[in-house]
Amino acid sequence: MLYDVIIIGSGPSGLTAGIYTSRASLHTLLFAGKKWGGQLQLTSEVENFPGFPEGIMGPELMERMRKQAQRFGVEIIDKEVTGIDFLKQPFSVSVGDVVAGASPANTREKASQGDATTYTAKSIIIATGADTMWLGVPGEAQFIGKGVSSCAPCDAFFYRNKHVVVVGGGDSAMEEAIVLTKFASCVTVVHRRDSFRASKIMVDRVVNHEKIDVIWNTSVEEITGDQKVNGVMLKNKRGVVQKMPVDGVFVAIGHQPNNGIFKGIVEMDEKGYIVRKFQIPNSKFQNSYSSQTSVEGIFVSGDNHDHAYRQAITAAGFGCQAAMDVERWLEEQK
Ligand code: NAP
Repeated sequence: MLYDVIIIGSGPSGLTAGIYTSRASLHTLLFAGKKWGGQLQLTSEVENFPGFPEGIMGPELMERMRKQAQRFGVEIIDKEVTGIDFLKQPFSVSVGDVVAGASPANTREKASQGDATTYTAKSIIIATGADTMWLGVPGEAQFIGKGVSSCAPCDAFFYRNKHVVVVGGGDSAMEEAIVLTKFASCVTVVHRRDSFRASKIMVDRVVNHEKIDVIWNTSVEEITGDQKVNGVMLKNKRGVVQKMPVDGVFVAIGHQPNNGIFKGIVEMDEKGYIVRKFQIPNSKFQNSYSSQTSVEGIFVSGDNHDHAYRQAITAAGFGCQAAMDVERWLEEQK
């Protein structure tokens, strides 16, 4: 069976891409992964996705997107992709036990042997997203969605007149802290060093903000709570540990794009985000394939190339772009 397109990933980006490719009558297969649905499966209420004026729970939003994609004929397999071959067309994608490929760097092939099942397609959309980097301290995983968050634009609203902590010293942490000041009564940024790595303008806004204070040279050792978060255990450079009562903890220590399997195959930046190339030589749509990777016929959408916006709605928008690029590109190949 040769598919028109295989989509790898089942967050808002992958599923939106699937809705568009299937409605364009492209035969579409989507690999959802073992834990399908992406970061929204870890979110509680989503209030900023248009079309849901009363808000919607993250998992329910994903369930609806999945049903919508299936309604138009997207075939979904809830398995992790374990092997790829983007060296020759049609492209192939494998799931199952793959004997790790001894593929040399900079080739577009990763071996897939063993008990793997292989599927082929004329084009690929990589929509594997990114994962929040978490602190890994006791209480953190337990209270995600109950006082622990990694997205101030999504959750700040729930902290009206509350005291929250932001962990991190990069631009994300600065941005989260500033967003939170619109609702919280007090925002404490906890940073492990004595200086921020964020851009000066953001640092200035944070250190001069009347609602924000900064605790330097300090790490969060534990997040405490009962039904929801009620405090953090802070440890300073001298080893002194003390509890600070808080209502929420926003972890902003970076993101990790889920692009490992594509390393050495499509071009990435120094942080592992896939680079979009925009141009395909000799295409009549010069400059208009915004989701094209360095390999012709392989497209990318969502948080695995976007480290600026990282919202459900922008990921969905990128999925739409990639699907339309695929449709046009396949048309050009005829
Ligand atoms: P980042 O720049 O990598 O900063 C991560 C921060 O978290 C650093 O301050 C780091 O501390 C701290 N950190 C990392 N691991 C930690 C741990 N285990 N415990 C405690 N602290 C930890 O990540 P980012 O802020 O997400 O930014 C990523 C990229 O996106 C950057 O290039 C940034 O400029 C960009 N960005 C731009 C904007 C904007 O322009 N509006 C907004 C957001 C992000 P150390 O400093 O000690 O390493």
